[in-house]
Amino acid sequence: MESFDDQLQQQLDAIRDAGLYRELRRIDSAQSPHIAILGRSLLNFSSNDYLGLANHPALKEAACKAVEQFGAGSGGSRLISGSLAPHHQLEESLARFKGAQAAVSFSSGYAAALGTIGALLDKGDVIVLDKLVHASIVDAARLCQAKLRVFDHNDVTGLGKILKWASTGPKAAASSRKRRILIVTESVFSMDGDLAPLREIVEMKERHGAWLMLDEAHATGLFGQHRRGLAEAFELGHRVEIQLGTLGKAFGSAGGYVCGSRKLIELLINKARSFIFSTAPTPATTAAATAAIELVQSDEGERRRNLLWSNVDRVKNGLVTSGCQIPVVRSAIIPIIVGDEAKAVSLSSALSELGIFIPAIRYPTVARGEARLRLTVSAAHSSSDIATLLGAFTRCCEKPRPT
Ligand SMILES: *Cc1c(COP(=O)(O)O)cnc(C)c1O
Repeated sequence: MESFDDQLQQQLDAIRDAGLYRELRRIDSAQSPHIAILGRSLLNFSSNDYLGLANHPALKEAACKAVEQFGAGSGGSRLISGSLAPHHQLEESLARFKGAQAAVSFSSGYAAALGTIGALLDKGDVIVLDKLVHASIVDAARLCQAKLRVFDHNDVTGLGKILKWASTGPKAAASSRKRRILIVTESVFSMDGDLAPLREIVEMKERHGAWLMLDEAHATGLFGQHRRGLAEAFELGHRVEIQLGTLGKAFGSAGGYVCGSRKLIELLINKARSFIFSTAPTPATTAAATAAIELVQSDEGERRRNLLWSNVDRVKNGLVTSGCQIPVVRSAIIPIIVGDEAKAVSLSSALSELGIFIPAIRYPTVARGEARLRLTVSAAHSSSDIATLLGAFTRCCEKPRPT
């Protein structure tokens, strides 16, 4: 009989043969533009720490203070004994920041998607996803037992056809209640950096009586007058039923959240299994997130956002000048599509030799044959960091075949 490890080795071999093998790279420094890997300092253009807050003194101080006052662990799930003052402060800050009635936090954005979709939908309901939504939403959609339909990326006409079918279909099987229809999309797409046609989607969902869950993971802190996200920039915040986000990207901490009506949050506290059956996030990460939300709303937050956008412009212009073709993006995510998995890995290695850290993104994070370098820009990058990046690309970018 084959041993357990032999069977796993076969799977690992298949992953490696497909050019999809992954391994962890240990970083011996804080998350910042310069990271230490295997004793070398590399310039980090891979982080989601868009505003440079992960290592910011205000967040570190808030985390330390919370540890002093509330300890290292939270001791239980929120509904048992873990609902500490820092969690309540975070949720009040979040709701105020997003201009929503209420908010609830989760241990991650992944857990927030899983718990929320599962709480809202059941067998007989319909969930409709943009083809490129994040894995957490795909997993949640599968788990919730609702009928799953997918529309082509940003294809509002395709979405309309599905909604027409869904809204004229039979009532939910189990009861005579109205079938629920939930659309889920991202506002800024995590691997492509492009934007959803939000206005059209909102109009469409209202026409068909559907609900919209908007994942603002890569937009919160960056878009809109108050930096609430893309829905704010489009003046649609009040028309989105479920606003999902993470505390681990522009907010520089960790955790996830949902903002919306008081009833939505009340329902999630009662039904979201990833909230109910999981230890509450630690006081440190929670307090750091609250500090980040305050910082994002301050003058410094505005300064950092402006710095980020000017860095993004410099990087984009520089890449184009150095012969790299990049799609037109309006976010801090710049995908450099290579196509072939092995080629993407070798471009990433070549850049690493030149002191630049940008990992290759491959299947199943993106479709097969659409491997890419996902370059992300931060407000914390200096002019000389960007000059170094562009210099390295000029040397590497003639060969690869970006599309
Ligand atoms: C990162 C991400 C998530 C998950 O958030 P975590 O807090 O990292 O679990 C969800 N959706 C999108 C679009 C993301 O990019």
